Amino acid sequence: MTSAHTASLDPLDLEAFRRHAHSLVDWVADYLAGLDNLSVCSTVNPGDVRAKLPERAPEQPEPFVALLSDLDRVVVPGLAHWQHPGWLGYFPAGSSPASVLGELACAGFGVVGMLWSSSPAATEIESLVLDWLVDLLGVPQHWKTTDIGGGVLQSGASASTHTMLVVAREVCRKRTGAAIDDMVVYTSREAHSSVEKGARVAGYRHIRFVGTDAEFAMQPDALAAAVESDRAGGLMPAFVCSTVGTTGTTAVDPVREIAAIARSEHLWHHVDAAYAGSAMICDEFRPYQDGLELVDSYTFNPHKWLATNLDCSVMWVADRRPLIETLSILPPYLQNAATASGHVIDYRDWHLPLDRPFRALKLWFVLRSFGADGLRKMIRNHVAWTRRIAKHIDRHPRLERIAEVPFALVAFAHRDGNTGTDDLVERINRDGRFYITASEVDGRRYARIVVGSTWTTEAHIDAVWDLIDKSA
Ligand code: PLP
Repeated sequence: MTSAHTASLDPLDLEAFRRHAHSLVDWVADYLAGLDNLSVCSTVNPGDVRAKLPERAPEQPEPFVALLSDLDRVVVPGLAHWQHPGWLGYFPAGSSPASVLGELACAGFGVVGMLWSSSPAATEIESLVLDWLVDLLGVPQHWKTTDIGGGVLQSGASASTHTMLVVAREVCRKRTGAAIDDMVVYTSREAHSSVEKGARVAGYRHIRFVGTDAEFAMQPDALAAAVESDRAGGLMPAFVCSTVGTTGTTAVDPVREIAAIARSEHLWHHVDAAYAGSAMICDEFRPYQDGLELVDSYTFNPHKWLATNLDCSVMWVADRRPLIETLSILPPYLQNAATASGHVIDYRDWHLPLDRPFRALKLWFVLRSFGADGLRKMIRNHVAWTRRIAKHIDRHPRLERIAEVPFALVAFAHRDGNTGTDDLVERINRDGRFYITASEVDGRRYARIVVGSTWTTEAHIDAVWDLIDKSA
């Protein structure tokens, strides 16, 4: 008898699909269970992966077992294992069994919720889940889709920020008649590069990187001075982006003070909380987002720190009208009675792409499988473990912390200087059990440890500290 895997080469055979799906889920569960035995990062050289594969696509169907075996033979050795419990680099890539299953359901449905009418459940579950998150994260009630604002899932914080830059440009143009060539965007020099990229793509020519204080947070006085100087120079301040949890050190810009300037100067105020937004599910972090009731838009990524797979980024607007006015185009082939009634949300008007996956499914699965309490527990563990590493660093004779630890990132340097720090990071990564990244601020190299993998445990934290201590 033929094996279960090779029984059918018909790619549309649903009984074969059922068997293959079960074997793939087994494969993924084994992969995740065995991550601790793998080196976190890949050691392949450029071209190695491709060299293992044929140069031409197959003319004839291949058995599923061949695909599975290539996951082991070709793919796994060529991966950096972002779900590894020793993954402490960049920011985490959220994931969990519930989220993976949500992705599977999403792929199975294969619907496109561009219009309410093109899949009512896709739109209504997305709106509902994002309204749930308004309560869970303690952000302003008027951001709910049942109120004047609303939330939408985007591919990433970059896309959200870019979209808001486009909306701000149109709002500024309508209000002042200014040309894009004269409009100015402000953000701190610690902001993520997506702010600059989004501004460039949206056509802005003037981008100001406002100075930061000793904690790497934007200085409101410096923002006010930059705005004043630009106005005096005949330019038109249009947009400011504050960050809650910068990429470098998770610094928090003073949102309320920046909002006061944004309001009096008529700037669109966007908040990028791509990483730290997830922490707001725990009350104790909410002081870091003080002032949100005064801002125009906000983004955060469940695909970073809320156990939800890429891509899944939340964008909220305080008032959805400018967004929809800027992005709405209704060609004849998209017209329908529900849209004409004005009583439904058509998410095609809320971002640049038209086609969109049913991203809300995985987030819905995660929220229901963990419960808010389960997610709070995960975040609190990550923060507590990170602060424990920070305490060890503070007591270490050769290491020095370079920033506060508001969330689950600790930034530290070797007292021997930049080379000492880079060497330390290299030694830690060479061990293979953990991966951390290095960065630089004001000419100073530093090591970044971010605890955020769904699978990291206290034992991994003890082991990484032991390794740091020995390597320093
Ligand atoms: N903003 C901040 C503060 C980030 O740290 C990042 C990525 O790390 C981004 C934006 C970009 O997010 P995305 O990759 O979802 O576009």
